Amino acid sequence: MRFLLLVSLVVTIWSTASVVQAAIPRKNACSNICQGYLEVFKTDADCDLEDEIDYSCVCPGNIYTESYALCLDVCNAEEKATTWKAWVKKCKKAKVDLSEGYEYYYQAGLADNIPQKQINKTAPVDKPVLPNYTKYRANYAARYEKNHNLQWAQYFGNIINAFWALLMLISFTRLIFVRISPRKGSKPYAFVTKFRKHFILPSTFGSRHIASFKGIGTIPLRWQSIVVFVLFCMCVIFMFVDMKTTEGPETLFYTKNIQFTRFIGDKAGILGVSQLPVLFLFGGRNNILMLFTGWSFDTCNVFHKWLGRFTFMILCVHSWTYAYVYGNLGAYNDTGKAEYYRLKILDDLPNRLGIVAIVLMGVIIIGACYPLRHHWYEIFLTVHVLTAISFFGVAWHHVKENGYMQYFYATVAVWSFDILIRIVRVAIAGPWNQAKITAHGDAVYVAVKPALRWNAKPGQYAFIYVLRHNFWESHPFSIVETRDGHYIFVAKKHAGLTRKLHTSVASKDNQVDKCRVWIEGPYGDSFPIQRYETVLLIAGGIGITAILSYALDMKRKGTDQHVILYWMVRDNSSLKWVKDQLSELTESGLIEINIYVTGEKEEDKNMSSEEGSSTSLSELSDKEAAALSAPRYSVKRNERPVISEVIEQVIVAAEGSVAVVSCGPAAMADECRAAVTSNVDKGKGRVDYFEDAFSWA
Ligand SMILES: Cc1cc2nc3c(=O)[nH]c(=O)nc-3n(C[C@H](O)[C@H](O)[C@H](O)COP(=O)(O)OP(=O)(O)OC[C@H]3O[C@@H](n4cnc5c(N)ncnc54)[C@H](O)[C@@H]3O)c2cc1C
Repeated sequence: MRFLLLVSLVVTIWSTASVVQAAIPRKNACSNICQGYLEVFKTDADCDLEDEIDYSCVCPGNIYTESYALCLDVCNAEEKATTWKAWVKKCKKAKVDLSEGYEYYYQAGLADNIPQKQINKTAPVDKPVLPNYTKYRANYAARYEKNHNLQWAQYFGNIINAFWALLMLISFTRLIFVRISPRKGSKPYAFVTKFRKHFILPSTFGSRHIASFKGIGTIPLRWQSIVVFVLFCMCVIFMFVDMKTTEGPETLFYTKNIQFTRFIGDKAGILGVSQLPVLFLFGGRNNILMLFTGWSFDTCNVFHKWLGRFTFMILCVHSWTYAYVYGNLGAYNDTGKAEYYRLKILDDLPNRLGIVAIVLMGVIIIGACYPLRHHWYEIFLTVHVLTAISFFGVAWHHVKENGYMQYFYATVAVWSFDILIRIVRVAIAGPWNQAKITAHGDAVYVAVKPALRWNAKPGQYAFIYVLRHNFWESHPFSIVETRDGHYIFVAKKHAGLTRKLHTSVASKDNQVDKCRVWIEGPYGDSFPIQRYETVLLIAGGIGITAILSYALDMKRKGTDQHVILYWMVRDNSSLKWVKDQLSELTESGLIEINIYVTGEKEEDKNMSSEEGSSTSLSELSDKEAAALSAPRYSVKRNERPVISEVIEQVIVAAEGSVAVVSCGPAAMADECRAAVTSNVDKGKGRVDYFEDAFSWA
């Protein structure tokens, strides 16, 4: 798998490199203007100039060549030279030799010509035509600035991509540093701790991060918001800087207003498409950024969401400005306002597709708003993927005639690799896997044995497709490895797939079922908690699955760390979810286990607390309860710990570095984060916080 990810990295770097080209060529304004100029007059030869110049027609005789040389006089020296060279080459191919050089034809044209004002477009000319220099110089200047703007739009787009690359590099370096630094690091410098306390750990404002803010969305961490803010500033500033409108009676844009608006429109269009590869990269499961930066899926998701919103904003600017330009240009040329708009927008397929693309992106953005995403996750996901595919296809056809396809190719590369690696993951785990499904209280166990052993690390998760129920749905669950090399997933019953599974198993006599599943994983990185002297594991409800994988791993390796586990559950029956694993944990006594049954059910309220005793775990068999009777184990009932106090006590009492790991309900995770943030400077060693969020919807 690492190998495949490495291949995907190489391909992505390759495609990114093709995007971030060292130098982006500027389109040649001179050839645009002067080739267009040849259309203003007719000769007896009646050459076809409309679609592509027929050089075997225009090169013989000197009328076209001398008129062209006269026109080139409006261009700057560099473009004049390259444009003339290209003309000579094309003529040479058409077997016409122009070896006398530019100056010769220019002087010949100057010596004997007809001024443009005097020609009648329908009557053929028999001499070269002298352009209206005032108008053509202005047209050239306007076109030159337009091309400069297009070139810089790509540079700016690539600067934003380079910004991501820089962040990636910083995170990669940090990751390497963390991996190679000696175990049990000493307390960092005070300014580093301060920086982490104020910028890395806390939510942007208040203490909510995983929990929603008034049901309208989640609040990113402060450092994520800073990145998003810088991104926003770049998007806005780059759209408006480095644009020079030109003077004069030119016929490309007519007014400065139209010219400026068109420049913004061009810039916005290119900036928008240049963000597509990174946007799709952040949205994918096999996001190599996660592997090489250590960013969580949550972090990538934050960037995916905000980059998507900004791209939409930029593309809206693109469409509004183009609508304005096409809506107004017609007033200045012979076509008329309404007719010009109809011709350029309504009757023009690529532009019509542009409108469809922006509408589709609007659907994506509205459909991804928090309330819809949170309440109808599967519907959101299906609509999101289908509209994203449609948007991409439509935008491709909108853009393809103008170039800039490198961004689309890079996006296809990123996306295809994601899909390929997903298929490979399912294939490795075994597409014919039969899972044994059992019901335990309000949870189901899905036990599988992948075809190839995963060597899953603690904290990793996999997506499960239950082929019997909506095979296209895949849900993430933490991997818990059993002693005998099986993997189990404990899924708590919610309203969707988990309920269907639970209902179908619960209806069986022995509460056991078998069904075909696909497993896609393992995903996620493992927190490097083995590097800390004290590890505080905090689980709420079903969050115990992720926490257990860390605890079991440490127990199996015979850890010498000080490990304390807190698990808060609502009722006694929830203890059954992971009873075997809890028993295994208590065997060695290496881990201090504190379970709080907060007692919402009446029967739980009447049960007493116990410490290191096996007497009142009434839901468990005698054997199971006996296994839980190690001295470092306690179950307290009808109470819940004050998390902030627990965290503060552990940090203050610890002799060295402390890792706090949480997994559980959003409010609990936010409380843990707030407590670590306010106590991060109270430890004798380094204090770190690791969060496993079970929700990214
Ligand atoms: C990394 C990770 C590990 C997880 N590990 C476990 C675990 O070990 N045990 C466990 O019980 N739960 C775990 N969850 C949560 C679990 O994925 C959801 O509870 C499950 O997908 C809900 O399915 P449903 O159709 O019954 O949900 P619904 O009732 O339809 O929705 C309940 C909530 O689940 C979330 N959800 C629904 N579908 C998905 C999906 N495909 N992907 C992500 N979130 C979704 C949404 O936030 C939704 O609000 C984990 C989640 C994540 C992100």
